[in-house]
Amino acid sequence: MKDFIHRAAEDLIRSKNAVALTGAGMSVESGIPPFRGKGGLWERFDPMEYAHIDAFMKNPAKVWDVLIKEMKGIIDNARPNDAHKGLARLEKLGILKTIITQNVDGLHQMAGNTDVVEFHGNFAWQRCMKCNNRCETTKIDIRQTPPRCECGGIYKPECIFFGEMIPPQCLQRSEMAASACDTMLVIGTSAGVQPAASIPLIAKQAGAKVIEINLEKTPLSKEISDYIIPGKAGEVLKTLTIEIDRLLANK
Ligand code: NAD
Ligand code: ZN
Repeated sequence: MKDFIHRAAEDLIRSKNAVALTGAGMSVESGIPPFRGKGGLWERFDPMEYAHIDAFMKNPAKVWDVLIKEMKGIIDNARPNDAHKGLARLEKLGILKTIITQNVDGLHQMAGNTDVVEFHGNFAWQRCMKCNNRCETTKIDIRQTPPRCECGGIYKPECIFFGEMIPPQCLQRSEMAASACDTMLVIGTSAGVQPAASIPLIAKQAGAKVIEINLEKTPLSKEISDYIIPGKAGEVLKTLTIEIDRLLANK
């Protein structure tokens, strides 16, 4: 791992426009479980029964009681881990320009990153399905579910459910960032879900170096990634930023 960290530190210092693509693995060390894989939410819940927009429309109380309440409990209390802090440091150093994330937890912004494209929306806000009024998730009263707005409408988290369209402006911004970057960090995503899977491909085809940070190999690892740094996102990013600071200090 050490050799790869040194190599990534040198690549990033040389980079003029680095972009990061992040997934659920990024926030595991903040106590937020991923959806797929070991310990993932889908081991306990059928996504089609709880995370599909049709399921929500049919029975919002059920989806609130089982999935959204639990997510609210976890996300309301989650704080950025060393991986989020590492990416915030890379932005401060002028290396990292944009983060494209599939996460809905808002931890990148909390860590201090300023340009974050959230293409699955954000869990921090709820929107009334009747009058479009917005309310912060932390302020929502969930003693009765589904929670309702003053107008009587039901609140729905501002994240993209299965069966919903990704906002076209997010897709466009991600594609633009990917095609303009010279280095792409792909962190904690299984890269199996579109459109996340195609973002690193766009970067690669535009000539960028693709560096993956993940506990496991992914479909990108063989063909797309230049190399993969195996390990936990928080540990890798912490060591990586220390190495970058060391190299910059010795310059
Ligand atoms: P995923 O659940 O499919 O995959 C997670 C990936 O992270 C895997 O490749 C796994 O090997 C890796 N991983 C796990 N722990 C890690 C760690 N500590 N360090 C580095 N890598 C680690 O996640 P996905 O590909 O992001 O797709 C699932 C979708 O679910 C996302 O699009 C997202 O919208 C949503 N989701 C979001 C959150 C969140 O906001 N934090 C949490 C769960 C799911
Ligand atoms: Zn309303």
